[in-house]
Amino acid sequence: MIDFELTELDQEILAEVRRQALICRKYARDLDENEAEFVPKELPEAKDFKNPFSLMSKHTEHDTPLSIMAMLVAAGASWGDYSVRMREDSGGLGNAALRASGTPEQIERWKDKRLAMAITEPSCGSDSKAIQTTAVLDGDEWIINGEKIFVTTGCRADGVVVWATLDKSAGRAGIKSFIIMKGAPGFEVTHKEKKLGIRADDTAAMVFKDCRIARDHLLGLNENIPKQGAGGFRAVMKTFNNTRPFVAAIGLGMAQAALDFTRDALAQEGVEVDWDGGKHSRSAVQQELIEIEAEIEAGMLDALHASWLSGNGAPNNLEASIAKAKGGEVARTATSRCLELLGGLGITRDHLAEKWFRDARITDIYEGTGQIQRLIIAREILGYSSSELS
Ligand SMILES: Cc1cc2nc3c(=O)[nH]c(=O)nc-3n(C[C@H](O)[C@H](O)[C@H](O)COP(=O)(O)OP(=O)(O)OC[C@H]3O[C@@H](n4cnc5c(N)ncnc54)[C@H](O)[C@@H]3O)c2cc1C
Repeated sequence: MIDFELTELDQEILAEVRRQALICRKYARDLDENEAEFVPKELPEAKDFKNPFSLMSKHTEHDTPLSIMAMLVAAGASWGDYSVRMREDSGGLGNAALRASGTPEQIERWKDKRLAMAITEPSCGSDSKAIQTTAVLDGDEWIINGEKIFVTTGCRADGVVVWATLDKSAGRAGIKSFIIMKGAPGFEVTHKEKKLGIRADDTAAMVFKDCRIARDHLLGLNENIPKQGAGGFRAVMKTFNNTRPFVAAIGLGMAQAALDFTRDALAQEGVEVDWDGGKHSRSAVQQELIEIEAEIEAGMLDALHASWLSGNGAPNNLEASIAKAKGGEVARTATSRCLELLGGLGITRDHLAEKWFRDARITDIYEGTGQIQRLIIAREILGYSSSELS
């Protein structure tokens, strides 16, 4: 039988996450309005709070699997705020790529560094095989040339996993990823992007101009370009099977925050959900609250399922995309539906509802848009390759 009950330790961890989320919320508005600033590496209150991850180290086989807890913690933290944490997270998307595609020596060498991941360029986003950044071998060094935009944690990271092509005519098979650390000659972070939502978040633009790095900075060290197939490209894309459920959970945490605020605001006006009555005895507002809640739960179950599969080492390409597609859609629509229920209260900057609406929008864009997830789902179900269905 499936058991959804949380153990005492699970509950202790999630209660700690909630306590910290409430503190983080106090800083959310100020950082949103001062976009050029960076989120502090540690909040002044940090000394009074445990790191929830240190509590997780007490986990035993009797507690909820870490793959599930990671989703609940992610949603619990973003319920407080998307960007603000008691202590800065130690890893970026590039760290997930390093773990997925690096050699054991590379993983050991860079495991303690914070790594961003730079794929997107001014002329290529969803269609990542169209990457223009080039890598050319010159003796024992790679020379990297190109421009990257929208790099999460790009300003503050120690280094970046950069996607570049060895041979544009080879398409996907020619694309490799390289570790480029800050300070490499020719590598410059040009600016922090200005955005609609998650404005406090560190999103960077960067250029590589005749940037030289050592030959062993090629992730996985495989310099071959296969004549057939996608080469290492598919392996690197697998990074997203771990991170997409996580992104969904973060978005759903914001949707839950908006729903909780809306439910409380309506309760103050005497509107509460009548769980005992049937659909036809409820008001439209009560029914809407129930539907939003059901959508968030459905999204969360998809994220938990995809993450649980990955935690068990099972393939989850399809499930990760389902989780991201559903989570992205629910994060976007649930926050919008809450604004509708709130009226003016949803628009004023006196409250965070309008911010959750802006912040949640990204869930359906980065790490593959909703449309791209649906393409992947269709390919997986119908058995098409990416060239057959694009
Ligand atoms: C805040 C933020 C953080 C980000 N972080 C990172 C990061 O850390 N690293 C990184 O490399 N990138 C990052 N990105 C970039 C992000 O992954 C891209 O914005 C995203 O992949 C979409 O690419 P695009 O913006 O070029 O849009 P496009 O690819 O031009 O898409 C525009 C529209 O067309 C649709 N579309 C495109 N192709 C198809 C198709 N084949 N079928 C149907 N519809 C299609 C898309 O779904 C979208 O609606 C970030 C972006 C933002 C805004």
